[in-house]
Amino acid sequence: MEDCIFCKIANKEEAAEIVYEDERVVAFKDIYPKAPVHILIVTKKHIHSANHIEPEDKELVGELFLVAKKVAKEQGVAETGYRLSFNVGRDAGQVVDHLHMHLLGGKKIPLA
Ligand code: AMP
Ligand code: ZN
Repeated sequence: MEDCIFCKIANKEEAAEIVYEDERVVAFKDIYPKAPVHILIVTKKHIHSANHIEPEDKELVGELFLVAKKVAKEQGVAETGYRLSFNVGRDAGQVVDHLHMHLLGGKKIPLA
């Protein structure tokens, strides 16, 4: 997808502090962290939002959770706790229209 910031990060056309990468998924530090640990876990495939996940994406979307588990351990929050969340659409605060899981930890994370 042209002009999609997360596609550009996945394609190395934009810089990001990448903490994990494989063929299908990339994870990088959020540029405006809302917690001491704030990582975005992103499919390299452009999927607009959770509203646009198709049955053929189910394994790929499952991989986001496995990467989250690995990253949480590496970032030292696996035991203290962390939140995984997806914002879907404008009312939820989705501003980047490319599917991404937020991993937030390192302090008590207030709801919403
Ligand atoms: P959302 O509000 O769920 O769409 O989350 C988008 C997130 O992407 C926000 O927390 C932004 O701070 C973050 N973000 C936007 N641009 C970048 C970027 N170039 N590198 C890292 N994080 C970014
Ligand atoms: Zn994209």
